[in-house]
Amino acid sequence: MPITTGRPYLAIPGPSVSPDRVLNAMHRTAPNIYEGEIVEMTKALIPDLKRVAMTSQNVAIYIANGHGAWEAANLNMFSRGDKALLAATGRFGHGWAEAARAMGVQLEMIDFGKASPADPERIADALRRDPGHEIKAVLVTHVDTASSARNDIKAIRSAIDSTGHPALLAVDAIASLGCDELRMDEWGIDVLVGASQKGLMLPPGLGFVWFSDKALEVSRSADLVTPYWDWKPRGTGTEFWQYFGGTAPTHHLYGLRESLTMILDEEGLENVWDRHRRLAGSVWAAFDAWGIESSIRLNVADTASRGWSVTAATIPDGGAGALRRWLEAEAGVTLGIGLGMALPHEPAYQDFLRVAHMGHVNAHMTLGVLATMEAGMQALGIVHGPGALEAAAGALVG
Ligand SMILES: *Cc1c(COP(=O)(O)O)cnc(C)c1O
Repeated sequence: MPITTGRPYLAIPGPSVSPDRVLNAMHRTAPNIYEGEIVEMTKALIPDLKRVAMTSQNVAIYIANGHGAWEAANLNMFSRGDKALLAATGRFGHGWAEAARAMGVQLEMIDFGKASPADPERIADALRRDPGHEIKAVLVTHVDTASSARNDIKAIRSAIDSTGHPALLAVDAIASLGCDELRMDEWGIDVLVGASQKGLMLPPGLGFVWFSDKALEVSRSADLVTPYWDWKPRGTGTEFWQYFGGTAPTHHLYGLRESLTMILDEEGLENVWDRHRRLAGSVWAAFDAWGIESSIRLNVADTASRGWSVTAATIPDGGAGALRRWLEAEAGVTLGIGLGMALPHEPAYQDFLRVAHMGHVNAHMTLGVLATMEAGMQALGIVHGPGALEAAAGALVG
């Protein structure tokens, strides 16, 4: 008999686990959207939404997922025919590029592959080859959820600055916001894209675009924008309905209020980052041990270039697929598929998986996933090194 009775655990990199408190805050009747409590609550929510991105500049909220937030960012930054430079470090970088291209942006891509961070110097070189400043923005994914590679945004900003090129720096932080260290203003990010269902611990449904005053200036002449997606009224409007281009996402706002209180006022943002760093470390330690005298490998070799919210790995000979299926059917744990590593019909597709440690996760949840993976490897006869659970526990203790 499977041992699945009990609370199931969806350990995929989004949607993440929503705290009961967040879900309970959303479980209520709709408020009056014209005056009263929701209007006041939202006014107070905006500064906290800026705090979570560590910016004092602007934010726009969209009723959208991450793909919607990408489009919002593109529409406000670009005019048809504008050039953009994209540094791809996994499937999500390519996704953003495809969206921009389809919208009429001329995209130059530097593809850093599926297991490495972007090299800031190559970004700078590409900008130096653009003396006429035709490139309007550099697009980069902070943590690419497919590869789990993390880019050094600060170093990319310095590299851009070293060229004197005025391009905006736009960062997809959908997988890292509320998990990994991220400092919009200090790191010189102009446009930051986020979504509700990852580190912010809400159900899918809200997309966010934070934008600098410089990006706001650029957007005044960008001609792709349409009224609904325009970040100007959303970010700088005075009427409540302008924040949302219509009816507010009322219930998500109550949930967001609760999650921001948990992150900012109760645990503290830096403690949230530290929790994710330590949980990631225990996952990496387990994989390192499993990899002894086996071909199990973490996707990103360099510790400093790994995201803290998700880990991509290889278990060869179809082991990753078999293990995922065993965990779901036998143990109540759902791991993430390997994304963008191979096509679904290719045998290699079954060699990749991802473990999420994103958002509302603690030690027992992550150690529980690792222990359940160990059980699955034993049950399936997957060749793996010894000592993974001791290593994971040890890494957590520090
Ligand atoms: C999840 C994710 C997206 C896509 O978000 P959707 O809500 O699925 O549209 C884009 N970029 C990154 C880095 C992500 O993690």
